[in-house]
Amino acid sequence: MQRKVALITGASRGIGAATAVCAAQQGWNVVLSYQHNHAAAHRVVQAVEHHGGQALAVQADMADEAQLMALFAAVDAHFGQLDALVNNAGVVDVAQKVADYSVARLERMFRINTIGAFVCAREAVRRMSTAHGGRGGAIVNVSSIAARLGAPGQYVDYAAAKGALDVMTLGLAKEVAAEGIRVNAVRPGLIATDIHASGGQPDRVQRLAPHVPMQRGGSAHEVAQAIVWLMSDASPYTTGSLLDISGGNL
Ligand code: NAP
Repeated sequence: MQRKVALITGASRGIGAATAVCAAQQGWNVVLSYQHNHAAAHRVVQAVEHHGGQALAVQADMADEAQLMALFAAVDAHFGQLDALVNNAGVVDVAQKVADYSVARLERMFRINTIGAFVCAREAVRRMSTAHGGRGGAIVNVSSIAARLGAPGQYVDYAAAKGALDVMTLGLAKEVAAEGIRVNAVRPGLIATDIHASGGQPDRVQRLAPHVPMQRGGSAHEVAQAIVWLMSDASPYTTGSLLDISGGNL
């Protein structure tokens, strides 16, 4: 059977990398994007190939529309098909109160986490929608439980950017439901990845784990399994869903 093709943004590390490997194990070929870390992206390519999939890594900044257009052009040129998009790339900033935010901080947050995801969704719809001559497909947005909780005193901007992604999930799901595309989101809680160190809190998972009802952080693999399920034909009637994966922290 021909392997389907998934584009996973920000898949050189963390949840995206785990999703690439999990997808390869379940029969997908993968295009993965990253920002800087070529060596890590190359390791994920090797892991996908180890599981029998084909993989292509493309550097593409989520904040730059021209680079995202080039990313999709690379998908077209290399595989000639697209069956799923995982809008996974995302960033946090250092903990700060809203009263201290600069416009530069807000623009970076929304450009990467929200506008970049919209551009990718647009390009995926243009390729997958039956109304555009496509064969249908799936979009999975990687939101955050912060969109429910608001992240006060930490990063309300990040929570708001992910809240916008949730609303995009609901609206786009209805917009393209009759065009063969399902659109869902996962909302991870406290997951052990590098993202916490990038926000200046390398010990965040250990520090906050006791406050999670399940009393632990989650793993990237535990999120990846849900993403790949939502991408796959195993969830044919699921669209417009926001799936919380947060150990009960709701
Ligand atoms: P991570 O470990 O920090 O990895 C981030 C990935 O995104 C890397 O592949 C990175 O590429 C890429 N990336 C960062 N900025 C980018 C940009 N401007 N353009 C393109 N790629 C970019 O993050 P993670 O924890 O796996 O997070 C993945 C997603 O899950 C994010 O959307 C995040 O908001 C969400 N999430 C995470 C948690 C958590 O606790 N970890 C909780 C809720 C939601 P390089 O390797 O090249 O830097």
